[in-house]
Amino acid sequence: MTVTDLVSYEDVLASYDPVMGLEVHVELGTNTKMFCGCSTTLGADANTQTCPTCLGLPGSLPVVNATGVESAIRIGLALNCEIAQWCRFARKNYFYPDMPKNFQTSQYDEPIAFNGFLDVQLEDGEVFRVEIERAHMEEDTGKSTHIGGATGRIHGASHSLLDYNRAGIPLIEIVTRPIVGAGARAPEVAKAYVAELRELIKALGVSEARMEMGQMRCDVNLSLRPIGREKFGTRSETKNVNSLRSVERATRFEMQRHAGVLNAGGTILQETRHFHEEDGSTTSGRIKEEAEDYRYFPEPDLVPVAPSREWVEELRGTLPELPRLRRNRLREEWGISEHEMQSVLNAGALDPILATIDAGAPADQSRKWWMGELARRANEDGVDLGSLPITPEQVARLCELVAEGSLNDKLARQTIEGVLAGEGTPDEVVDKRGLKVVSDEGALGKAVDEAIEGNAAIADKIRGGKVAAAGALVGAVMKATRGQADAARVRELILEKLGVEG
Ligand code: ADP
Ligand code: MG
Ligand code: ZN
Repeated sequence: MTVTDLVSYEDVLASYDPVMGLEVHVELGTNTKMFCGCSTTLGADANTQTCPTCLGLPGSLPVVNATGVESAIRIGLALNCEIAQWCRFARKNYFYPDMPKNFQTSQYDEPIAFNGFLDVQLEDGEVFRVEIERAHMEEDTGKSTHIGGATGRIHGASHSLLDYNRAGIPLIEIVTRPIVGAGARAPEVAKAYVAELRELIKALGVSEARMEMGQMRCDVNLSLRPIGREKFGTRSETKNVNSLRSVERATRFEMQRHAGVLNAGGTILQETRHFHEEDGSTTSGRIKEEAEDYRYFPEPDLVPVAPSREWVEELRGTLPELPRLRRNRLREEWGISEHEMQSVLNAGALDPILATIDAGAPADQSRKWWMGELARRANEDGVDLGSLPITPEQVARLCELVAEGSLNDKLARQTIEGVLAGEGTPDEVVDKRGLKVVSDEGALGKAVDEAIEGNAAIADKIRGGKVAAAGALVGAVMKATRGQADAARVRELILEKLGVEG
Protein backbone atom coordinates (compact mmCIF):
# COMPACT_ATOMS: atom_id res chain seq x y z
CA MET A 1 0.00 0.00 0.00
CA THR A 2 1.48 3.29 -1.03
CA VAL A 3 0.33 6.72 -0.01
CA THR A 4 -0.93 7.32 -3.56
CA ASP A 5 -3.66 4.76 -2.90
CA LEU A 6 -5.21 7.00 -0.28
CA VAL A 7 -8.62 8.31 -1.27
CA SER A 8 -9.29 11.98 -0.67
CA TYR A 9 -11.27 12.61 2.48
CA GLU A 10 -14.24 14.04 0.58
CA ASP A 11 -14.37 10.99 -1.67
CA VAL A 12 -14.30 8.63 1.32
CA LEU A 13 -17.38 10.35 2.70
CA ALA A 14 -19.18 10.31 -0.63
CA SER A 15 -19.23 6.50 -0.62
CA TYR A 16 -18.64 5.29 2.91
CA ASP A 17 -19.78 5.62 6.49
CA PRO A 18 -17.03 5.23 9.13
CA VAL A 19 -17.48 3.04 12.23
CA MET A 20 -15.03 3.43 15.09
CA GLY A 21 -14.15 1.62 18.28
CA LEU A 22 -11.82 3.11 20.83
CA GLU A 23 -9.97 1.10 23.44
CA VAL A 24 -8.23 3.19 26.05
CA HIS A 25 -5.84 1.85 28.67
CA VAL A 26 -5.36 3.96 31.75
CA GLU A 27 -2.55 3.29 34.19
CA LEU A 28 -3.88 3.89 37.68
CA GLY A 29 -1.86 6.04 40.04
CA THR A 30 -2.00 3.57 42.94
CA ASN A 31 1.05 3.37 45.22
CA THR A 32 1.38 -0.37 44.73
CA LYS A 33 0.78 -2.81 41.90
CA MET A 34 -2.53 -4.53 41.17
CA PHE A 35 -1.71 -7.95 42.58
CA CYS A 36 1.33 -7.45 44.82
CA GLY A 37 2.81 -4.84 47.13
CA CYS A 38 5.56 -3.63 44.78
CA SER A 39 6.00 0.12 44.39
CA THR A 40 4.80 1.81 41.20
CA THR A 41 7.05 4.88 41.42
CA LEU A 42 8.33 5.93 38.01
CA GLY A 43 11.99 6.30 37.23
CA ALA A 44 13.43 3.61 39.52
CA ASP A 45 16.35 1.48 38.32
CA ALA A 46 15.28 -1.43 36.14
CA ASN A 47 13.86 -4.46 37.95
CA THR A 48 14.15 -2.95 41.43
CA GLN A 49 10.37 -2.90 41.91
CA THR A 50 9.60 -6.56 41.47
CA CYS A 51 8.73 -9.57 43.59
CA PRO A 52 7.94 -13.23 43.02
CA THR A 53 4.31 -12.42 42.19
CA CYS A 54 4.89 -9.85 39.45
CA LEU A 55 7.79 -11.91 38.13
CA GLY A 56 5.51 -14.94 37.92
CA LEU A 57 7.75 -17.20 40.02
CA PRO A 58 6.36 -20.60 41.01
CA GLY A 59 4.37 -20.67 44.23
CA SER A 60 3.66 -16.96 44.37
CA LEU A 61 0.09 -15.83 44.89
CA PRO A 62 -1.63 -12.59 43.84
CA VAL A 63 -3.81 -10.42 46.09
CA VAL A 64 -6.12 -7.74 44.68
CA ASN A 65 -5.31 -4.08 45.33
CA ALA A 66 -8.45 -2.60 46.92
CA THR A 67 -7.64 0.92 45.71
CA GLY A 68 -7.39 -0.45 42.18
CA VAL A 69 -10.89 -1.89 42.46
CA GLU A 70 -12.18 1.33 43.98
CA SER A 71 -10.71 3.37 41.12
CA ALA A 72 -12.21 0.99 38.58
CA ILE A 73 -15.65 1.37 40.15
CA ARG A 74 -15.38 5.16 40.28
CA ILE A 75 -14.35 5.26 36.61
CA GLY A 76 -17.26 2.97 35.78
CA LEU A 77 -19.72 5.15 37.68
CA ALA A 78 -18.39 8.34 36.08
CA LEU A 79 -18.97 6.65 32.71
CA ASN A 80 -22.59 5.94 33.66
CA CYS A 81 -21.92 2.20 33.76
CA GLU A 82 -23.59 -0.55 35.72
CA ILE A 83 -21.26 -2.06 38.29
CA ALA A 84 -21.06 -5.84 38.46
CA GLN A 85 -22.51 -7.45 41.58
CA TRP A 86 -19.93 -10.16 41.25
CA CYS A 87 -17.14 -10.59 38.76
CA ARG A 88 -13.94 -12.47 38.31
CA PHE A 89 -10.52 -11.94 36.85
CA ALA A 90 -9.50 -14.05 33.89
CA ARG A 91 -6.22 -15.30 32.53
CA LYS A 92 -5.40 -14.18 29.03
CA ASN A 93 -2.80 -16.70 27.98
CA TYR A 94 0.06 -15.84 25.70
CA PHE A 95 3.81 -15.84 25.77
CA TYR A 96 5.79 -12.69 25.47
CA PRO A 97 9.07 -11.91 27.21
CA ASP A 98 7.67 -8.79 28.89
CA MET A 99 5.09 -10.94 30.68
CA PRO A 100 6.88 -13.61 32.67
CA LYS A 101 3.71 -15.30 34.01
CA ASN A 102 2.81 -16.26 30.42
CA PHE A 103 -0.63 -14.86 31.00
CA GLN A 104 -2.00 -11.42 31.69
CA THR A 105 -4.44 -11.17 34.56
CA SER A 106 -7.39 -9.38 33.01
CA GLN A 107 -11.15 -9.58 32.90
CA TYR A 108 -12.99 -11.18 30.05
CA ASP A 109 -16.74 -11.77 30.04
CA GLU A 110 -17.25 -10.44 33.57
CA PRO A 111 -16.03 -6.84 33.55
CA ILE A 112 -16.38 -4.75 36.70
CA ALA A 113 -18.30 -2.03 34.77
CA PHE A 114 -20.44 -2.19 31.64
CA ASN A 115 -23.19 -0.48 29.62
CA GLY A 116 -22.29 3.15 30.04
CA PHE A 117 -21.80 6.28 28.00
CA LEU A 118 -19.75 9.43 27.87
CA ASP A 119 -21.11 12.65 26.37
CA VAL A 120 -18.43 14.57 24.53
CA GLN A 121 -18.68 18.12 23.32
CA LEU A 122 -17.45 18.90 19.82
CA GLU A 123 -15.82 22.16 18.82
CA ASP A 124 -19.10 23.66 17.61
CA GLY A 125 -20.70 22.91 20.97
CA GLU A 126 -22.73 19.93 19.84
CA VAL A 127 -22.81 17.01 22.28
CA PHE A 128 -22.11 13.54 20.89
CA ARG A 129 -22.86 10.48 23.00
CA VAL A 130 -20.28 7.68 22.91
CA GLU A 131 -21.55 4.39 24.29
CA ILE A 132 -19.26 2.42 26.57
CA GLU A 133 -19.33 -1.34 26.29
CA ARG A 134 -17.21 -2.05 29.35
CA ALA A 135 -14.42 -0.96 31.61
CA HIS A 136 -12.37 -3.76 33.05
CA MET A 137 -9.37 -4.23 35.32
CA GLU A 138 -6.10 -5.71 34.19
CA GLU A 139 -2.37 -5.32 34.66
CA ASP A 140 0.39 -3.77 32.63
CA THR A 141 3.25 -5.76 31.16
CA GLY A 142 6.96 -5.13 31.60
CA LYS A 143 8.89 -2.97 29.19
CA SER A 144 11.20 -4.29 26.47
CA THR A 145 13.97 -2.16 25.04
CA HIS A 146 15.41 -3.43 21.78
CA ILE A 147 19.04 -2.55 21.26
CA GLY A 148 20.88 -2.25 17.98
CA GLY A 149 17.98 -1.78 15.55
CA ALA A 150 17.53 1.49 13.74
CA THR A 151 14.11 2.49 15.05
CA GLY A 152 13.99 0.92 18.48
CA ARG A 153 11.86 -1.87 17.01
CA ILE A 154 12.77 -5.50 17.54
CA HIS A 155 13.47 -5.80 13.83
CA GLY A 156 17.23 -5.55 13.29
CA ALA A 157 18.02 -5.50 17.01
CA SER A 158 20.98 -7.47 18.38
CA HIS A 159 19.47 -8.00 21.81
CA SER A 160 16.65 -6.83 24.06
CA LEU A 161 16.52 -5.62 27.65
CA LEU A 162 13.61 -6.28 29.96
CA ASP A 163 12.41 -4.17 32.86
CA TYR A 164 9.62 -5.66 34.97
CA ASN A 165 9.01 -2.59 37.13
CA ARG A 166 5.89 -1.87 35.10
CA ALA A 167 4.68 -5.50 35.14
CA GLY A 168 1.59 -5.64 37.31
CA ILE A 169 0.81 -1.92 37.45
CA PRO A 170 -2.99 -1.63 37.43
CA LEU A 171 -4.66 -0.77 34.16
CA ILE A 172 -8.26 -0.01 33.40
CA GLU A 173 -9.26 -0.75 29.84
CA ILE A 174 -12.24 1.22 28.63
CA VAL A 175 -13.88 -0.04 25.44
CA THR A 176 -16.53 1.76 23.44
CA ARG A 177 -19.33 0.16 21.52
CA PRO A 178 -18.98 0.73 17.78
CA ILE A 179 -19.34 4.47 17.28
CA VAL A 180 -21.68 5.14 14.37
CA GLY A 181 -23.19 8.31 13.00
CA ALA A 182 -20.13 10.52 13.29
CA GLY A 183 -19.68 10.69 9.51
CA ALA A 184 -17.25 13.40 8.45
CA ARG A 185 -16.61 14.20 12.07
CA ALA A 186 -15.32 10.73 12.98
CA PRO A 187 -11.73 11.92 13.54
CA GLU A 188 -12.98 14.86 15.61
CA VAL A 189 -15.26 12.63 17.67
CA ALA A 190 -12.43 10.18 18.31
CA LYS A 191 -10.16 12.95 19.52
CA ALA A 192 -12.87 14.64 21.59
CA TYR A 193 -13.75 11.33 23.25
CA VAL A 194 -10.18 10.60 24.28
CA ALA A 195 -9.76 14.21 25.46
CA GLU A 196 -12.95 14.05 27.51
CA LEU A 197 -12.01 10.69 28.98
CA ARG A 198 -8.60 12.04 29.95
CA GLU A 199 -10.18 15.04 31.69
CA LEU A 200 -12.57 12.74 33.50
CA ILE A 201 -9.79 10.43 34.68
CA LYS A 202 -7.83 13.43 35.94
CA ALA A 203 -10.87 14.90 37.67
CA LEU A 204 -11.43 11.56 39.42
CA GLY A 205 -7.84 11.72 40.62
CA VAL A 206 -7.21 8.09 39.71
CA SER A 207 -4.39 8.80 37.26
CA GLU A 208 -2.53 11.77 35.85
CA ALA A 209 -3.42 10.29 32.45
CA ARG A 210 -0.40 11.79 30.73
CA MET A 211 -0.44 10.30 27.27
CA GLU A 212 3.15 11.30 26.52
CA MET A 213 4.23 9.23 29.54
CA GLY A 214 2.18 6.20 28.51
CA GLN A 215 -0.21 6.62 31.43
CA MET A 216 -3.04 6.64 28.94
CA ARG A 217 -2.84 4.76 25.63
CA CYS A 218 -5.36 4.43 22.88
CA ASP A 219 -6.07 1.82 20.20
CA VAL A 220 -8.15 3.06 17.29
CA ASN A 221 -10.43 0.53 15.57
CA LEU A 222 -11.89 1.62 12.29
CA SER A 223 -13.99 0.17 9.51
CA LEU A 224 -15.95 1.56 6.61
CA ARG A 225 -19.30 0.42 5.29
CA PRO A 226 -20.87 1.56 2.02
CA ILE A 227 -23.39 4.29 2.75
CA GLY A 228 -26.80 2.79 3.43
CA ARG A 229 -25.50 -0.61 4.42
CA GLU A 230 -26.32 -1.95 7.87
CA LYS A 231 -23.53 -4.48 8.30
CA PHE A 232 -20.17 -3.29 9.55
CA GLY A 233 -17.05 -3.73 7.45
CA THR A 234 -13.87 -5.40 8.69
CA ARG A 235 -11.93 -3.27 11.14
CA SER A 236 -8.27 -2.49 11.51
CA GLU A 237 -6.88 -1.77 14.96
CA THR A 238 -4.17 0.88 15.13
CA LYS A 239 -2.29 0.33 18.38
CA ASN A 240 -0.78 2.78 20.83
CA VAL A 241 -1.89 6.04 19.33
CA ASN A 242 -0.53 8.16 22.10
CA SER A 243 -1.57 11.77 21.66
CA LEU A 244 -4.87 13.47 20.99
CA ARG A 245 -3.65 14.77 17.67
CA SER A 246 -2.48 11.29 16.67
CA VAL A 247 -5.90 9.81 17.46
CA GLU A 248 -7.42 12.27 15.03
CA ARG A 249 -4.80 11.68 12.37
CA ALA A 250 -4.84 7.90 12.66
CA THR A 251 -8.63 7.83 12.26
CA ARG A 252 -8.47 10.04 9.20
CA PHE A 253 -5.62 8.08 7.65
CA GLU A 254 -7.33 4.74 8.16
CA MET A 255 -10.53 6.06 6.59
CA GLN A 256 -8.58 7.14 3.53
CA ARG A 257 -6.61 3.89 3.38
CA HIS A 258 -9.63 1.61 3.82
CA ALA A 259 -11.45 3.43 1.04
CA GLY A 260 -8.42 2.96 -1.22
CA VAL A 261 -8.37 -0.78 -0.59
CA LEU A 262 -12.15 -1.16 -0.95
CA ASN A 263 -12.35 0.97 -4.11
CA ALA A 264 -9.69 -1.21 -5.71
CA GLY A 265 -11.81 -4.29 -4.97
CA GLY A 266 -9.48 -5.43 -2.19
CA THR A 267 -10.35 -6.74 1.26
CA ILE A 268 -9.44 -5.17 4.56
CA LEU A 269 -7.61 -7.60 6.81
CA GLN A 270 -8.50 -7.66 10.47
CA GLU A 271 -5.04 -6.74 11.66
CA THR A 272 -3.27 -4.53 14.13
CA ARG A 273 -1.39 -1.56 12.70
CA HIS A 274 1.38 0.75 13.85
CA PHE A 275 0.93 4.51 13.73
CA HIS A 276 3.81 6.69 12.55
CA GLU A 277 4.05 10.08 14.16
CA GLU A 278 6.31 11.50 11.40
CA ASP A 279 3.80 11.38 8.57
CA GLY A 280 0.58 10.27 10.25
CA SER A 281 0.49 6.98 8.35
CA THR A 282 -0.09 3.44 9.60
CA THR A 283 1.58 0.20 8.58
CA SER A 284 0.59 -3.41 9.01
CA GLY A 285 1.35 -5.11 12.33
CA ARG A 286 0.09 -8.59 12.94
CA ILE A 287 -3.01 -10.45 11.92
CA LYS A 288 -5.43 -10.18 14.77
CA GLU A 289 -5.91 -13.09 17.16
CA GLU A 290 -9.41 -14.15 17.99
CA ALA A 291 -10.44 -14.24 21.63
CA GLU A 292 -10.39 -18.03 21.60
CA ASP A 293 -6.69 -17.98 20.80
CA TYR A 294 -6.04 -16.66 24.27
CA ARG A 295 -7.80 -19.54 26.02
CA TYR A 296 -9.29 -17.23 28.59
CA PHE A 297 -10.37 -18.88 31.81
CA PRO A 298 -11.34 -17.56 35.25
CA GLU A 299 -8.33 -16.83 37.45
CA PRO A 300 -8.30 -19.53 40.12
CA ASP A 301 -5.86 -17.74 42.44
CA LEU A 302 -7.98 -14.66 43.05
CA VAL A 303 -11.29 -14.41 44.85
CA PRO A 304 -14.17 -12.91 42.87
CA VAL A 305 -14.80 -9.20 43.28
CA ALA A 306 -18.24 -8.57 44.77
CA PRO A 307 -18.59 -4.89 45.62
CA SER A 308 -21.48 -4.29 48.00
CA ARG A 309 -24.19 -1.91 46.80
CA GLU A 310 -23.53 0.30 49.82
CA TRP A 311 -19.90 0.69 48.83
CA VAL A 312 -20.84 1.44 45.22
CA GLU A 313 -23.27 4.14 46.37
CA GLU A 314 -20.68 5.55 48.72
CA LEU A 315 -18.24 5.77 45.81
CA ARG A 316 -20.91 7.40 43.65
CA GLY A 317 -20.97 10.13 46.26
CA THR A 318 -17.28 10.85 45.65
CA LEU A 319 -17.66 11.63 41.94
CA PRO A 320 -16.49 15.09 40.91
CA GLU A 321 -18.43 17.48 38.71
CA LEU A 322 -18.12 16.19 35.14
CA PRO A 323 -15.39 18.09 33.29
CA ARG A 324 -17.74 18.99 30.44
CA LEU A 325 -20.30 20.48 32.81
CA ARG A 326 -17.60 22.23 34.77
CA ARG A 327 -16.22 23.78 31.58
CA ASN A 328 -19.65 25.02 30.59
CA ARG A 329 -20.25 26.43 34.05
CA LEU A 330 -16.91 28.26 34.08
CA ARG A 331 -17.50 29.55 30.55
CA GLU A 332 -20.73 31.13 31.72
CA GLU A 333 -19.25 32.47 34.94
CA TRP A 334 -16.39 34.06 33.05
CA GLY A 335 -18.64 35.32 30.29
CA ILE A 336 -16.48 33.97 27.48
CA SER A 337 -17.41 32.31 24.20
CA GLU A 338 -17.20 28.62 23.33
CA HIS A 339 -14.30 29.51 21.10
CA GLU A 340 -12.41 31.34 23.84
CA MET A 341 -12.95 28.43 26.20
CA GLN A 342 -11.63 26.10 23.54
CA SER A 343 -8.45 28.19 23.27
CA VAL A 344 -8.03 28.01 27.03
CA LEU A 345 -8.32 24.22 26.86
CA ASN A 346 -6.07 23.85 23.85
CA ALA A 347 -3.43 25.92 25.61
CA GLY A 348 -3.66 23.65 28.67
CA ALA A 349 -4.43 26.80 30.64
CA LEU A 350 -7.55 25.73 32.53
CA ASP A 351 -5.79 24.23 35.54
CA PRO A 352 -3.25 27.05 35.96
CA ILE A 353 -6.00 29.66 35.57
CA LEU A 354 -8.15 27.97 38.21
CA ALA A 355 -5.21 27.56 40.57
CA THR A 356 -4.42 31.26 40.18
CA ILE A 357 -8.02 32.18 40.95
CA ASP A 358 -7.82 29.91 43.99
CA ALA A 359 -4.75 31.87 45.05
CA GLY A 360 -6.84 35.03 45.07
CA ALA A 361 -6.65 36.54 41.56
CA PRO A 362 -9.74 37.77 39.71
CA ALA A 363 -10.78 35.38 36.91
CA ASP A 364 -10.27 37.84 34.07
CA GLN A 365 -6.78 38.80 35.24
CA SER A 366 -5.78 35.19 35.73
CA ARG A 367 -7.01 34.37 32.24
CA LYS A 368 -5.31 37.40 30.76
CA TRP A 369 -1.82 36.52 32.01
CA TRP A 370 -1.98 32.79 31.36
CA MET A 371 -3.45 33.17 27.89
CA GLY A 372 -1.29 36.20 27.05
CA GLU A 373 2.27 36.70 28.15
CA LEU A 374 2.70 33.27 29.77
CA ALA A 375 1.23 31.38 26.80
CA ARG A 376 3.53 33.36 24.52
CA ARG A 377 6.56 32.44 26.62
CA ALA A 378 5.57 28.77 26.85
CA ASN A 379 5.09 28.71 23.12
CA GLU A 380 8.47 30.31 22.51
CA ASP A 381 10.21 27.79 24.73
CA GLY A 382 8.18 24.90 23.36
CA VAL A 383 6.94 23.80 26.79
CA ASP A 384 3.55 23.30 28.44
CA LEU A 385 2.12 26.17 30.43
CA GLY A 386 2.14 23.89 33.45
CA SER A 387 5.90 23.43 33.25
CA LEU A 388 6.83 27.12 33.14
CA PRO A 389 8.86 27.94 36.26
CA ILE A 390 6.21 30.22 37.74
CA THR A 391 3.56 29.18 40.23
CA PRO A 392 -0.14 30.13 40.24
CA GLU A 393 0.52 31.86 43.57
CA GLN A 394 3.17 34.01 41.92
CA VAL A 395 0.85 34.90 39.05
CA ALA A 396 -1.81 35.83 41.61
CA ARG A 397 0.70 38.08 43.37
CA LEU A 398 1.51 39.69 40.03
CA CYS A 399 -2.19 40.40 39.47
CA GLU A 400 -2.29 41.97 42.91
CA LEU A 401 0.69 44.23 42.17
CA VAL A 402 -1.01 45.38 38.96
CA ALA A 403 -4.35 45.93 40.70
CA GLU A 404 -2.80 48.09 43.43
CA GLY A 405 -1.00 50.15 40.79
CA SER A 406 2.54 49.11 41.73
CA LEU A 407 3.07 47.61 38.29
CA ASN A 408 1.69 48.50 34.91
CA ASP A 409 1.34 45.85 32.21
CA LYS A 410 4.76 46.50 30.77
CA LEU A 411 6.47 46.22 34.15
CA ALA A 412 4.41 43.13 34.93
CA ARG A 413 5.73 41.52 31.76
CA GLN A 414 9.29 42.33 32.84
CA THR A 415 8.53 40.86 36.25
CA ILE A 416 7.33 37.66 34.59
CA GLU A 417 10.51 37.58 32.57
CA GLY A 418 12.53 37.81 35.78
CA VAL A 419 10.57 35.10 37.55
CA LEU A 420 10.93 32.79 34.55
CA ALA A 421 14.66 33.52 34.47
CA GLY A 422 14.94 32.28 38.03
CA GLU A 423 15.51 35.69 39.63
CA GLY A 424 13.05 34.97 42.43
CA THR A 425 9.46 35.72 43.36
CA PRO A 426 7.61 38.64 41.74
CA ASP A 427 8.39 40.85 44.75
CA GLU A 428 12.06 39.93 44.62
CA VAL A 429 12.24 40.61 40.89
CA VAL A 430 10.50 43.97 41.30
CA ASP A 431 13.03 44.88 44.01
CA LYS A 432 16.12 43.65 42.24
CA ARG A 433 15.21 45.14 38.89
CA GLY A 434 13.74 48.28 40.41
CA LEU A 435 10.50 47.84 38.51
CA LYS A 436 8.01 49.74 40.67
CA VAL A 437 5.80 52.24 38.92
CA VAL A 438 7.02 55.77 39.70
CA SER A 439 4.07 56.83 41.77
CA ASP A 440 5.99 59.26 43.87
CA GLU A 441 4.19 62.47 42.84
CA GLY A 442 7.28 64.57 43.39
CA ALA A 443 9.44 62.53 41.05
CA LEU A 444 6.66 62.29 38.54
CA GLY A 445 5.96 66.04 38.67
CA LYS A 446 9.63 66.74 38.01
CA ALA A 447 9.65 64.41 35.00
CA VAL A 448 6.54 66.13 33.65
CA ASP A 449 8.07 69.60 34.11
CA GLU A 450 11.16 68.48 32.24
CA ALA A 451 9.10 67.09 29.40
CA ILE A 452 7.15 70.35 29.10
CA GLU A 453 10.36 72.37 29.09
CA GLY A 454 11.99 70.16 26.53
CA ASN A 455 8.98 70.25 24.19
CA ALA A 456 7.87 73.85 24.35
CA ALA A 457 6.19 73.87 20.94
CA ILE A 458 4.03 70.88 21.75
CA ALA A 459 3.20 72.30 25.17
CA ASP A 460 1.98 75.49 23.47
CA LYS A 461 -0.28 73.53 21.14
CA ILE A 462 -1.83 71.78 24.13
CA ARG A 463 -2.32 75.09 25.93
CA GLY A 464 -4.04 76.27 22.78
CA GLY A 465 -6.58 73.45 23.14
CA LYS A 466 -5.03 70.68 21.06
CA VAL A 467 -5.36 68.10 23.81
CA ALA A 468 -4.58 65.23 21.45
CA ALA A 469 -0.97 66.41 21.31
CA ALA A 470 -0.55 65.40 24.97
CA GLY A 471 0.32 61.89 23.81
CA ALA A 472 3.76 63.04 22.71
CA LEU A 473 4.51 64.47 26.16
CA VAL A 474 3.20 61.34 27.87
CA GLY A 475 5.58 59.39 25.65
CA ALA A 476 8.47 61.61 26.69
CA VAL A 477 7.73 61.14 30.39
CA MET A 478 7.35 57.38 29.97
CA LYS A 479 10.69 57.29 28.21
CA ALA A 480 12.34 59.33 30.94
CA THR A 481 10.96 57.02 33.63
CA ARG A 482 11.90 53.89 31.65
CA GLY A 483 8.24 52.99 31.31
CA GLN A 484 7.77 52.90 35.05
CA ALA A 485 5.13 55.57 35.35
CA ASP A 486 1.37 55.20 35.28
CA ALA A 487 0.56 56.65 31.86
CA ALA A 488 -2.95 57.77 32.84
CA ARG A 489 -1.63 59.69 35.84
CA VAL A 490 1.11 61.29 33.70
CA ARG A 491 -1.48 62.54 31.24
CA GLU A 492 -3.55 64.02 34.07
CA LEU A 493 -0.50 65.84 35.45
CA ILE A 494 0.46 67.26 32.05
CA LEU A 495 -3.00 68.67 31.44
CA GLU A 496 -3.17 70.00 34.99
CA LYS A 497 0.16 71.78 34.69
CA LEU A 498 -0.78 73.25 31.30
CA GLY A 499 -4.09 74.36 32.69
CA VAL A 500 -6.37 72.55 30.24
CA GLU A 501 -9.35 70.29 30.83
CA GLY A 502 -8.83 66.60 29.87
P1 ADP B 1 -10.15 -6.72 20.68
O1 ADP B 1 -9.78 -7.36 21.96
O2 ADP B 1 -10.11 -7.60 19.51
O3 ADP B 1 -9.41 -5.46 20.44
P2 ADP B 1 -12.41 -5.38 21.75
O4 ADP B 1 -13.81 -5.85 21.82
O5 ADP B 1 -11.64 -5.23 23.01
O6 ADP B 1 -11.67 -6.35 20.77
O7 ADP B 1 -12.37 -3.98 21.03
C1 ADP B 1 -12.80 -3.79 19.73
C2 ADP B 1 -13.24 -2.38 19.57
O8 ADP B 1 -13.61 -2.17 18.22
C3 ADP B 1 -14.47 -2.02 20.36
O9 ADP B 1 -14.41 -0.67 20.71
C4 ADP B 1 -15.60 -2.28 19.39
O10 ADP B 1 -16.74 -1.49 19.66
C5 ADP B 1 -14.99 -1.86 18.09
N1 ADP B 1 -15.49 -2.56 16.92
C6 ADP B 1 -15.97 -3.81 16.83
N2 ADP B 1 -16.30 -4.10 15.57
C7 ADP B 1 -15.99 -3.02 14.82
C8 ADP B 1 -16.08 -2.71 13.43
N3 ADP B 1 -16.53 -3.58 12.55
N4 ADP B 1 -15.67 -1.49 13.04
C9 ADP B 1 -15.18 -0.61 13.91
N5 ADP B 1 -15.07 -0.84 15.22
C10 ADP B 1 -15.46 -2.04 15.68
MG1 MG C 1 -8.09 -4.51 21.34
ZN1 ZN D 1 5.54 -7.43 42.74
